[in-house]
This record gives sequence, C-alpha cells and structure tokens, in this order.
Amino acid sequence: MFKRPFFVCKKPCLEDQSLTAITPEPETTPLPSTITLYCPKAFDPHDQQDPILLKTGERVKTGQKLPIYKNRDAYVISTVTGTVSSISSYKDDFGHAYTAISIDGAETEEIDGQFAECGPEPSLETAMDFLALVPGKPPLNVFSDPEKSIDTIVICGVDSDLLVTTNQHFVKSKIDIIKNGIQILKKITGVERIILAVPQEGLQGFSPIGAEVKAVDTVYPASLPPMIMKDILGQVVPAEKSCEDMGVCFLNAEAVASIASAFEEGQIPVKKMLTLIKKDGSRSMVSARIGTPLREIFKACNVTLRDEDRIIIGGLMTGSAVYSEDHPVQPDTDAIIVQDREDLSLVSDYPCINCGECVRICPVKIPVNMLVRFLEAGEFEEAADQYDLFACIECGLCSFVCVSRMPIFQYIRLAKTELVRLRTAEANNA
Ligand code: SF4
Ligand code: SF4
Repeated sequence: MFKRPFFVCKKPCLEDQSLTAITPEPETTPLPSTITLYCPKAFDPHDQQDPILLKTGERVKTGQKLPIYKNRDAYVISTVTGTVSSISSYKDDFGHAYTAISIDGAETEEIDGQFAECGPEPSLETAMDFLALVPGKPPLNVFSDPEKSIDTIVICGVDSDLLVTTNQHFVKSKIDIIKNGIQILKKITGVERIILAVPQEGLQGFSPIGAEVKAVDTVYPASLPPMIMKDILGQVVPAEKSCEDMGVCFLNAEAVASIASAFEEGQIPVKKMLTLIKKDGSRSMVSARIGTPLREIFKACNVTLRDEDRIIIGGLMTGSAVYSEDHPVQPDTDAIIVQDREDLSLVSDYPCINCGECVRICPVKIPVNMLVRFLEAGEFEEAADQYDLFACIECGLCSFVCVSRMPIFQYIRLAKTELVRLRTAEANNA
C-alpha cells in the first residue's frame, strides 16, 4: 500500500494507491434509532440574551433546517424524521464547544419541503441557508466574506490523507453530478476558474466538464491543500495565511456532488459517504446518515471491537482517535480506521535524540527538532515566533518518522489551537 524505505540520507516515501476503477456500490448502514448532530456553538441553556429555540420533544422531518438559537445563525439539518430527545453540551479533544442534538428516529420518514420551496434556481444565499452541512461540508461562507476575494475553486478529487478514497470514489462514480455541480458553483459564486484535482493515474479519460483537470502526485502529502497550492497553482501559502486568503477555495468532490443533487432534486442530501478501513487493512465504501453512531456502522459491516482496539476518525497520518462507539458521523467524516490493539503504534515519553528524521521529512522545512522542545515545555508563543509553528501544514509526517515516538503532531495541533484561542480572546477583550 505504501513504501517506506529508511536510508539515512533519504526521505521516507509514503505513496497511497489511487482508485483506478469504479469501486463497488457502498454498503448502506440501516437507519439508526438515534442520531446526534453537533452545532458548533457552546450550549448555554441559561442564556437569556440568546435563548435556545429548539426544544426536546419537538417533531422534525428529514432535511429540516433546525435553527438552534434565537440570535445566532447556527443551525443543523435533521438527517432523520423523528423527535428531539436531548440537547446537551459536547466538547472535542481540543476543548471546542458544541451543542449536541439527539433525535430519535420515527418509523415513517417525511421529507421537509422548506428547501424545495426556495425553487430550483440555485443561489449562494439558498446554498448558505441550507447546504453548509451537506456531506462534504462545503465552506460556503467564504464566498460572502468581504475579507476574502475568491477567484479560484479547487475541487478535491483526491483525498487528503493516506488510505482514504472517499473523494476519489465520487470522481469515479459520480462525475456527471460533479459536472453539474461545477456549473452551479460558477453560477452562485461568480468564480470562473475551477480546477478538478485528481490523482496522477486518474488523469486520462475525462470528457469536458467545465473545469481544468490537473494531476496530483500520489506521494504523501501532495494531496494536502497547501501542497496543491504550491504544485498546481504555483503559490506558496505564507505562515498564518490560509488558501482562502490567497483567493483559492478548496471543496471536496463529495461536497460539489451534494450541492448539485440538492438543487437538482429539491432535497438536502443527508447520507455521508466514508471509507472504512478494517483491522485487516481492507477498505470499503460505506454510506450512513450524518449523525449515525459508529457502532451502527461497525454492526452493519461486521467489525468487532475488543478492549483497547483503536478507532480513528480520518486518515492514517492526520486522523484523531475517538473513545466511544457512540461518536456520530459528521458531515466531514471521510474515513474511519479500526486498529487492532496488537497493531497500535504507541507514543513514548523518550526524549528527542536529535536524529533529524523529522527535519528531513518536513515538507515545509521546519526545524521540528527545535520546535518540539518549545512545544513540550508549553512555550507556544516562542514556538510560533522562533520555529515557524504556523508554517506547519499539519501533514503528520514528523510524528510518523520520530524514532523516539514523540507525539509531535499532537503537540503542534494543541499549540496552534491554544494560540488561536488566546489571540481570539485578546482581540475580543481589546
Ligand atoms: S506536521 Fe510535522 S512534518 Fe508536517 S509540516 Fe508540520 S512540522 Fe512539518
Ligand atoms: S525525529 Fe524525534 S527524536 Fe529525531 S530529531 Fe525529530 S523529534 Fe527528535
């Protein structure tokens, strides 16, 4: 699947096989009895200024937009027909706060008609109002942000991490829908330059689709947006800037297909496609309602978990472990990896031995061996100022090669999150 030669002066080379043929139809997970949706706003039931609108016991339909708070524009889209059974607080690993909404499914499904009432004519306003949480989670807000001036859209027909084939599956099996999506994107955003990025091996055989088709190398991390910016668009994203700051918006192929099918069918898509990588390394595509607990997917796909097996959301290099089978599928959950407890790569508390492997492999030439010393000491500002913390493109390669098995990537993510939080708080208090 990937090769990793370790020679002293040579960088390890991780290369994933790209999809060369249409994959079999995805396995469909049965309708779960309860789904859970996360709204990215802290839950505060006592906030008198901005009271919560949604109530437990409320009946909802599939595809119904559920505004959560009176004054905030946060919403979720119900992916089942049923009854709101609980509204609670959820925090992720980095302390980001969410409002968690659980919905018990009913036996009979009813499709909400509010989106269809907007009419078949696509508009950015309708898309932002209803489609920000469709499978693939398109970053639609960026097109109305006065501080961003988007002139190029890159549709990722590649997957940003190893072992994941979700976007490739969409390009292989739904290219006609993506083609329609390209026309819709041009119309609603006014952006004329659209690029479909596909793996090198999949470049041949495209009929005109209304977008440039460009090849991405299959050697990791060429499929990460900052690398696509450099290799395909010839632009280097400076530290503390984003691709959007440079006028380029990245959308997953699945998100484009979701937008197209929403406007074509007058119905908001609610099923997420994801790559399931089982303990034996086999991969399959799975379709599940957004909000489905992982245990339902495991049950449908005959995955049996033992104590201490690991569940990872995301790909091999950048995925995050989750600790409960109740964790729900999110609009951007592209992959689930299940690792047997015997196969886990463990971290250690060994110190850095200054071998330099991390420095050699870092695609943006960060002196990771020095950076990690500041991160371990919790000196995040110094890490940012002196050792290019924010130039990191979060590929995870440094952790992968670290001979002391230090959790460098986790330190980096934590430090960035913490600094952004501190800077946001300072700006709000200024
Ligand atoms: S994750 Fe590590 S290897 Fe990758 S860009 Fe960041 S510092 Fe460099
Ligand atoms: S790979 Fe690990 S041990 Fe080697 S220099 Fe980097 S942080 Fe230190």
